[in-house]
Amino acid sequence: MDALLDPGSSVVEFACPRCGHQAVDEWETIADRHPASWRCNACLSGFSVLIVECQHCAAETSDVALCEAELEPASRLRCRSCSHLCLHDEVQAKSADAA
Ligand SMILES: [Zn+2]
Ligand SMILES: [Zn+2]
Repeated sequence: MDALLDPGSSVVEFACPRCGHQAVDEWETIADRHPASWRCNACLSGFSVLIVECQHCAAETSDVALCEAELEPASRLRCRSCSHLCLHDEVQAKSADAA
């Protein structure tokens, strides 16, 4: 496993909530923590995507929903890589006395 070789160029995948078709934001048009509209290449229906970069391991986790109102809030999204909450304001305070 060669994890986190270059987080800056990682490609985020997510699945269409209607048909399950895998989509890739290969041009990185979706901004971190900002819900975006996406159109599925397979069934051509629109849906909403939220991408959040994990503050623990820098992996990017995505959430999809049929509309923006159904998306999980960024603050409650769990990282697929380390399973922590992606956004955690106590991280800085805790890492100070980690050593
Ligand atoms: Zn689809
Ligand atoms: Zn993580």
